[in-house]
Amino acid sequence: MVDAFEYPQTPHVRRHGPDGYTTYESYRPWLRDEFCFRCVLCMHRERWPTTSEFEIDHLIPVSDRSDLKCRYGNLLYVCRRCNSLKTDLRIPDPCSIAYGECLHISEDGAIEALNEEGRTLVRTLQLDRPERVRQRRMIIEVLSVVEETGDTQRQNDWLGFPEDLEDLARLNPPSNERPMGIEESFFARRRRGELPETY
Ligand SMILES: [Zn+2]
Repeated sequence: MVDAFEYPQTPHVRRHGPDGYTTYESYRPWLRDEFCFRCVLCMHRERWPTTSEFEIDHLIPVSDRSDLKCRYGNLLYVCRRCNSLKTDLRIPDPCSIAYGECLHISEDGAIEALNEEGRTLVRTLQLDRPERVRQRRMIIEVLSVVEETGDTQRQNDWLGFPEDLEDLARLNPPSNERPMGIEESFFARRRRGELPETY
């Protein structure tokens, strides 16, 4: 069940393009859906045990480019731990390069950097810290046990979508350059009966 930690093999293509909000927190519902309710940097999911809320990261820090503070294309959905480590450091853009070509996580929770970008990510986010390796290993082990039991309720608890999917059609951003993305949102897919049980 290491699949749950598999990084994407292609750069992320943004489905949404809201613009014009005056606070970056206003983009949160869009970012949750955009990045599938998990930290784009470490793959930790909202549904997994966590002691804190998820946060919004500025890929290019506001200290360098204050004009990008409220630009959707500069915002990422991340867990608090990753955000607190990244701070104002620069990391590769998951929408420009495939993290799956940079990082590989094995069954025992260990992480391997496959290239220079991967080394930057591991170093900046301390992805190889013993506690992070241990936590990944524990989650992988639990997921394996849950899979073996065939208990779908438990599988959904760990690998299902959150109940509070974002109904993006109800939001009215000042502008949206990719309105078609709303139809591809997880809320819309669930309404059409197209959402898988797990991901
Ligand atoms: Zn994270």
